[in-house]
Amino acid sequence: MELKILGSTGGFSIDGRHTACYFIKDLNIFLDFGSGFFRAKEEVKNVEKVSILLSHLHHDHISGFFCMQLALGVEEVDIYVPKGEKDNLYRYLEPPYSPQSFRLMPFKVNLIEIEDEFEIETPKGKVSVKTESFEHPGGVKGFRIFDGDKTLVYMTDMRSAGETFEGAVKFARDADCLIHEANYLDKSKDIAIQTGHTTALESGELAKAANVKLLLLTHITAWGNQNEFEAEAKTVFENSHAAKEKETYII
Ligand SMILES: [Zn+2]
Ligand SMILES: [Zn+2]
Repeated sequence: MELKILGSTGGFSIDGRHTACYFIKDLNIFLDFGSGFFRAKEEVKNVEKVSILLSHLHHDHISGFFCMQLALGVEEVDIYVPKGEKDNLYRYLEPPYSPQSFRLMPFKVNLIEIEDEFEIETPKGKVSVKTESFEHPGGVKGFRIFDGDKTLVYMTDMRSAGETFEGAVKFARDADCLIHEANYLDKSKDIAIQTGHTTALESGELAKAANVKLLLLTHITAWGNQNEFEAEAKTVFENSHAAKEKETYII
């Protein structure tokens, strides 16, 4: 899998850093479509159809909608939405909240409510995806994507420590790459708990316990120093990296 980081931050964008959007280029699959989605314009060329896996409906994961019309020159988009959220997404992305709507897109948009396990048609054939619910205000889905003998796990906006640690370890177990949020440093653990997030240290502990090969730290707060978050995770799990905008990782 060829993973490109299009938006790495959480909450809001700042100069050079955009909100949650990751593109598995050889599978034409986006993980969330936050403000970093504008970069899809450079990535998606001569492609008929793309898929978007949506973890939850918080604005920093769907704000790419507002450039979707200009960013994508495709014929069809499948958006995989957590169960029960399809109508909420539809309502949110139309007047009075938005001047646009899915109906105005120059391509077909299919909103698909996801099951615990499903398959996505990709240029490399069918890829299977497992999902699980995690703790976050309003709920969130984690994704485990199987491509041949490689596994990519995407866990953002969730509390993966304390009482939820064991479940998180089970879901991330032996992944080739774990993309996991690290919204806060350990010194702000109280806020992480209050807001349903995880610290860099806790993300490292999860990666170690789950025996993953690579940990990519994402959703690092926009004004945070990414190197500091990476260093904190590395104290417990050496192969931790803060995902940097526009970088590509081969998994
Ligand atoms: Zn977020
Ligand atoms: Zn969130």
